Order: sequence, then C-alpha cells, then structure tokens
Amino acid sequence: MSEEIISHGRILIAEDDPISRRMLQSFLAKWGYEVEVVADGVEALAALEQPNAPQLAVLDWMMPGLEGPQVCQRVRRLTDRPYTYILLLTARGQKDDLLRGLASGADDYLTKPFDSQELRARLRVGERILELERNLIVAREELRFRATHDVLTGIPNRASVLEATQRECSRQAREGGAFSVIILDLDHFKSINDTYGHLCGDQVLREAAHRVTASVRTYDSVGRYGGEEFLVVAPTTDGQGALALAERVRQAIEESPIETEAGPIRVTASCGVASKIDAETFSSSALLKLADEALYRAKALGRNRSESAATSGVRAVEVGAAGIERVSAKS
Ligand code: GH3
Ligand code: MG
Ligand code: MG
Ligand code: MG
Repeated sequence: MSEEIISHGRILIAEDDPISRRMLQSFLAKWGYEVEVVADGVEALAALEQPNAPQLAVLDWMMPGLEGPQVCQRVRRLTDRPYTYILLLTARGQKDDLLRGLASGADDYLTKPFDSQELRARLRVGERILELERNLIVAREELRFRATHDVLTGIPNRASVLEATQRECSRQAREGGAFSVIILDLDHFKSINDTYGHLCGDQVLREAAHRVTASVRTYDSVGRYGGEEFLVVAPTTDGQGALALAERVRQAIEESPIETEAGPIRVTASCGVASKIDAETFSSSALLKLADEALYRAKALGRNRSESAATSGVRAVEVGAAGIERVSAKS
C-alpha cells in the first residue's frame, strides 16, 4: 500500500484509554484524516449529533458514560443527516459480541489489538460507502429538480407551480387575507416562431422566464404554465396589488427587445389577474379559470395589457362558472 498522504476528510475517534487514543490519533493523522478526538461515549454522541459531524467514526466499545454500541443506537435514530459510518473497536472477540455490535447499528467491528493496515483498509471501505451515498443523494436531487423544473427555461414547471397555487390557496383559506394569481401569455408568439424560427422562439421564452422571475417579489412563485404562458402565484396580495404586479411584469417584457441569434426581437405580453380575499371559498382551479378569462379579455382588448377578473363574494363563483363555459367553448 502506498504511503502517499491523501486527504480523507474528517473522522471521530472515541477511546477512553489514553495510550490507545494517542496511537489511533497518530495513525489516522498520518493517513491523511482530519481527526477529532473524544474520551468517552457521551462526548462521542454529542460530537456525532452536531449538524456538521464527521461521517466516519471509530468507537471503542467499553467507555465511561455511554458504551460504543449505545452510541451507535442513538446515532442511528438521527434521520435528518447524511449517514455516519461507524467502526467499533474492542477487546471483546466473541462471536456474540460481534453480533451485538453489528445489531446496535455499527457497520464494522475490529478486535484489539488490531493491525494498523487492516484498520486502514476497513476505513477505506467505509469511505467508499459514504462516497456511494453522496453520489446517490446528488442523483436524487438532480431527479427531483428535473421532475419539478422546466427543461427549457429552468423555472418551476406546470405541476410544480400548480402545487404552489393549491398550497397558497389552502393557506389563504385557513388564515384569511388575500391571494392572487397572474397568468401571463406572450402576444403573437406563434409569429415569432414563424418569422425567426423555433430556436429564436426558445431564446425569447428563456429570457421572458428570466424577466418574469426577476420582476416578482421573493415570496411570489413563478412557473411555466404552458408553451408561452407563465403563472405567478402572489401570496398576501389583493386585486389591486396583483394588478400592479402584473403591470410590472408586463412592462419588464415590453421594456427592451430580447436579444436572439436573429437579432433583437420586440415582445409583448398580456396578463390575466384573479384574486381571492378573506372568506371566499372557491378552489385554486376556479381562480385559475377566472385569471384565464381575464387573460382572454386582455387579448380581445388589444393585447400588451393586464386585466383583472371580477372576483368578490358569491359573484366570483358565478363569474367563474360562466368563465369555465366560455373558455371551454373556445378550445
Ligand atoms: P396570442 O397573442 O393570442 O397569445 O397568440 P400566440 O401566437 O401567442 O398564441 P398561440 O397559442 O396561437 O401560439 C402559441 C405558440 O407558442 C404556438 C407554439 O408553437 C409556441 N410554443 C409553445 N411552446 C413552445 C416552445 O417551447 N418553444 C417555442 N419556440 N415555441 C413554443
Ligand atoms: Mg475502553
Ligand atoms: Mg397561449
Ligand atoms: Mg400567446
């Protein structure tokens, strides 16, 4: 085995015997570990309970306070953190002890006096397992991002922004106050594709998503609702506030031409706004239908403008029901 020193990251040693502790410490430091040392089980548990604890630990079995296997058991109950790989070290060499040690949650077991090269090799096994776990977490996070985000624009996708709408709708129903949604639809987008090509259309969509996201407040959510449609979810925002927000977003799109490989393209957008206040009980989908209806009105009135749905009290539900019919008659 090469004696080259490679950095191996942090490791915790818990050993009450001073000679044994110093020996372990010097081996591990020599092998390139960043070593943290404690002298009893209580300190070991405290160290491993830290949010940023070392993920590799060598625990002596017999220690004052808590014994090694007890520390293992307690560490295994912590579920809000990455895995801790634990190697138990002990003079107990019986098969029963080995089984008890592993049953307590230890990953490996080494009998004292141990061979230093064997300890080194076994710690490498632990590192391989931790590395595998890290890769799995990265892969899982990537999958989660892909499932909730739109590939083209990188912003939350339809499912994810609809979930935010539902969540906010329930929160508002519980806590009262106001809540608004804005549907923004790029004007004559089909002709941008037809004139400049689909790739330029994509560039416009990406920049539009960026401008919408940049012009809302941090606690608003934005997602790609459809092809050239974006949905803004605005918590604690009444109709007036939402209309002002819609205008700000619309202006951010209109403000300056979008740079594409076919040159700068002027784009405008229309917005439909719908709000829900206090005890109004209509669902998030009814609210979205109202916003959609307002959007159609903005289109009909000449585009590049924002329109609000009439939403208050019972009338909102009636308008909503009428809106549903009209929308479905169009499609
Ligand atoms: P309006 O002002 O009435 O909204 O007109 P419009 O042309 O924007 O509306 P329409 O619904 O007729 O066309 C939407 C277009 O958006 C058609 C579709 O090809 C295009 N589109 C949808 N998704 C994408 C995409 O991911 N990339 C590109 N480049 N185009 C897309
Ligand atoms: Mg001991
Ligand atoms: Mg559209
Ligand atoms: Mg459009």
